[in-house]
Amino acid sequence: MIWGPFLRTYKNRYAAFLARTVIHKIAPADFFIKFMSKQKNPCNAATYSLTFDFDFEKDIEAFPALLDLLKEYNIKAGLAVIGKFVEKYPDIHKRAVDEGHEIINHSYTHPDNPHWSPNRYFNKLSYAEQKEEIEKAHEVFYKILGVESIGFRTPHYGNLHTESVYPILAELGYKYSSSTAACGYKGFGAPSVHSHGIIEIPTGCSLHFPLAIFDSWNMLRKNNPFLGDDDLFVKEFIETIEVISKHNLFLSHYFDPYDVIKNNKIDRMLAELKKIKTILYRDII
Ligand SMILES: [Zn+2]
Repeated sequence: MIWGPFLRTYKNRYAAFLARTVIHKIAPADFFIKFMSKQKNPCNAATYSLTFDFDFEKDIEAFPALLDLLKEYNIKAGLAVIGKFVEKYPDIHKRAVDEGHEIINHSYTHPDNPHWSPNRYFNKLSYAEQKEEIEKAHEVFYKILGVESIGFRTPHYGNLHTESVYPILAELGYKYSSSTAACGYKGFGAPSVHSHGIIEIPTGCSLHFPLAIFDSWNMLRKNNPFLGDDDLFVKEFIETIEVISKHNLFLSHYFDPYDVIKNNKIDRMLAELKKIKTILYRDII
């Protein structure tokens, strides 16, 4: 009697898990639409948030060309930047702020950046060290750029993200984190309140790879990438945006600037984004 309901629930959950796994394998696009349709879209209309992570010197090298293209298409983006680079390259970051882009706190040194923070991992830092990483970046942004960031993205997010981020952000008066993957997070690709009053905005997947993060690392660069081809990458992005538009969904991605500047990928992606409403994280909050 005691085991009956438990087993029934367990069996139901297991059956649901199996069904999801099979559907994902044989009909990923259907899975994507079903999964995303469970979200509570904060914008009530098809909306997309474009963000970039600046982790390496080569991202900084791609920065001017990226800003030129964003200007050409009149699209504003969220830029997850690190304090060390803002100190080293203040002018390009100032230009980004002047052109209306949002500065997202991506920590002061981006543990384990090989130059600034080798062999340090964000999730292995103490609470005080994590807080210092976020607070110091905040102070640098304010001093050099004159902006008070309200959002944070954990360096290497998903993998090195920790729950301690949320109380720290609440202590610092932050409003959101964007450090989780849509496929593994409760918001179904849309923002939702996580804990300590902080909203979590997950970075999303794509139409044919609903359980992976749609970024250049997974799709193009890692061993056995999902796509491995720049044109297929752009095609996957365009088809995803078409579905987001058709079903009035919210979606956000992050990209590495130096990767998407190559072969005019971002150029073609921005042309597609002109067909959908784009929004900054700070304007959702
Ligand atoms: Zn990063």
